[in-house]
Parts: sequence; structure tokens; C-alpha cells
Amino acid sequence: MTLDQDTLRITLLGTGIPNPDINAFGTSTLIEAGDQCVLIDCGRGTAIRLSQAGYPLGVTDTVILSHYHSDHYAGLFDLLMTGTIQQPYSNRGGPLHLFGPPGVQDVAEGAWLATKPDREIRVADSEIDPDHMRVIPHEYAEGEVYNRGGLKIIAIEVDHGEFIRPAYAFRVEYAGRVFVHSHDTRYNENLIRQAQGADVFVHEVAAARAETLAHYPRIQVAIDHHASPTEVGRVFTQTQPKIAMLTHLVMLPPNPMTISEIVSELAEEYSGIVLVAEDLMTIEIGKNISLIPFNHGGSGLQHKPLRNRD
Ligand SMILES: [Zn+2]
Ligand SMILES: [Zn+2]
Repeated sequence: MTLDQDTLRITLLGTGIPNPDINAFGTSTLIEAGDQCVLIDCGRGTAIRLSQAGYPLGVTDTVILSHYHSDHYAGLFDLLMTGTIQQPYSNRGGPLHLFGPPGVQDVAEGAWLATKPDREIRVADSEIDPDHMRVIPHEYAEGEVYNRGGLKIIAIEVDHGEFIRPAYAFRVEYAGRVFVHSHDTRYNENLIRQAQGADVFVHEVAAARAETLAHYPRIQVAIDHHASPTEVGRVFTQTQPKIAMLTHLVMLPPNPMTISEIVSELAEEYSGIVLVAEDLMTIEIGKNISLIPFNHGGSGLQHKPLRNRD
């Protein structure tokens, strides 16, 4: 099934945190609109999730990073290296364009060095063009990061803690449709201002029981970098998205809070419906908004042949 010209399609490839979890890989979101296709963040398992969803790894040559925590770019090497192999499952036809906050140059240079041994073998075997294993860095600041073919991606500076600056949320606009993803942040007024009018607003959340915090003080550091359920409730109340959704649930062991408990805390500040994201869920924002679970044909399964590049 082709994508309707006025439809913005979002595939939540990864909705997890650093904890290795087969059901929730690191953050990664595929954005499709018209003839445009962009990946935002590239956490653990991005290549696996793309493939599960029916996309070749070379479906896009553009990755935008929100910030430099590992759960948001640990999957980059796999996408970069495996993506260069000239097979239907990969087949990126050129270098990878990487948009990131300051530091993106280091990632690009480091990737070129780290991939050298593999690259030399594959070049000797006439298997790949070495230039395809290059990362082209593009440093961005708050504001418009991407504007092509009617798809606009706007970076919103958020507050993810004093040593993680800058960190960004993204507002994605296409044909009057608006999708906002908080990525990692505390309660943030700048995000609230720029998330107005969203069709779908996906926000992170973190919570831990008081007794867990008392026994494991290190957990407090992680919790302090994120938004609590009641804070997320306030964000949704102040932005009134058509669809409000939670992702990147930081629920640390032992004895983590349940999703029901988190949602009921959030309800103290927000009375609307709240959904919980899962890996491989597709969101289509067109004449209406549909949320399609993977097992019901979500994401690329519907149009696998159309997205292969030559
Ligand atoms: Zn994260
Ligand atoms: Zn983070």
C-alpha cells in the first residue's frame, strides 16, 4: 500500500531505554512523508527493527540524533556498516548523513576509523564502495534541521540535565500534520510552547518508588534527568494533543512501578486518554489518525517493495 500524499507516517522502531530488553529497543523513529524518509535517533537494534518492519537498511541516508546518550545512537554502527553491503536487505547507495548537536564531527571521524578493518576487507573483495561507509556530519542548533519535499523537522531545545546539553525534542510537520516527540527531557516550558497544535505528542516518562530510591540512591540520578508522571500530565494538559502517548518508560528495578501506577499518577494532572508506545507501532496522520500495531500490518510490511532503493 502506498503512502497517501497527505499522510505523515511514523514508525516507532525503538521505544526503550539503555536496559537491554528484547521488547523495547533503544529509541529510534522512522519518519515517512511523500518521497521523504528520515530516521530520528538510532538506538540499539535499529537495523533489526527496520528489517522486521520490512525496510531495507538503506531506506534512508539521513539520521538525526537528539542527544548523545547511548540508547539513542548505539545502533548507528550496525546501520552504517551493514547498510553499505549491496544486498536487498541493506543497499544504501551512498554515505550516511548524520545530523547532531556539537560532537557529531567526533562521531563521524570515530566511525571512519572504527569501520576501517571491515571496510578494507570488503573493498578488497570489490563488495562495497568505501565512500558509502562514510558519515557526513551536519551540526545543528535549535530550529529547522530538515526541510525537503514538504517535510519539515524542527529541533526544540529541552532540559535533560546540566551535563547533557544541548538535547533536543523534535516537531515534525508535513501537509498540515504535526507529530512531536520529546526525546529525553525533564518538564520543559520551551517544549510546551513549541508542541502546541500537535496531532500526536509522544513524551518520555520516568518513575520510581520512594523505597527503591531510598535503597538505590544512584537511581535518583537517572530519574532526575527525566519527567515524572505528574509532570508529563501537566505537559499534556498545557498542549492538548489529539493523541497523547508515553514512551521511553524509565521504570528501574528492583520492584519497578507498573504502567497502571504511572498512568494513574499522570491522571492527577491530565484527564485525557493516554496511550503507551511499543516497538514497531505505526502512527499514520492523514485524514484521520490511526495507530496500527505491527501484528496488524503496521509500518513497512504494507509496502515493502516500494521502499527498496536501486
Ligand atoms: Zn534515553
Ligand atoms: Zn538521554
